[in-house]
Amino acid sequence: MKDNIVIHGLTFRPFLSRQQIAERANQLGQRISRDYQGKRPLFLAVLNGAFIFAADLMRACEIDCAITFIRLASYEGLASSGQVKTVIGLQEDIKGRDVIIVEDIVDTGQTMSQFMPQLEQMEPASVALASLLVKTEALECEVDIKYTGFEIPNKFVIGYGLDYDGLGRNIPEIYQLAD
Ligand code: 5GP
Repeated sequence: MKDNIVIHGLTFRPFLSRQQIAERANQLGQRISRDYQGKRPLFLAVLNGAFIFAADLMRACEIDCAITFIRLASYEGLASSGQVKTVIGLQEDIKGRDVIIVEDIVDTGQTMSQFMPQLEQMEPASVALASLLVKTEALECEVDIKYTGFEIPNKFVIGYGLDYDGLGRNIPEIYQLAD
């Protein structure tokens, strides 16, 4: 893992290694495989940030499962805007399906606390949330996160799908904004 990196003039320091992330994604995949034994869950990966985590989590699942990608873009710059825009790209009929939402990070919880009830209205058999990262101290809403990768401090992070103004998604590890 490289030393500090600079993106758009901001310095980020190493936070979670490839190995830590891979191990955790595998553990969660195994848990999901056990919890959904005999079922065929549909992963709903939230673009853009969750695409890499969703790919790893899905490959760690040993049961039949499907995936689709949606967009909720509610975020610009360094802080969440707290506004949820329309759900784009949900073509599947999720009625009667066991849905697992895959998120990169839950910060204030606004996005998920608004989106999950919307999803419930589509009458899925069940809805669970898997989030790689959770900023526990930043949570403002009650969000039921069934599968948490890492609880992290309230600092901006990039890498492994997460960006800072469009850059950093390709970094295989997770970096945290330096003080
Ligand atoms: P929430 O609605 O929970 O406050 O925010 C969720 C969204 O904000 C995430 O899906 C993500 O797009 C964005 N976000 C929150 N914190 C961070 C962060 O530390 N880094 C990045 N890259 N995005 C973040």
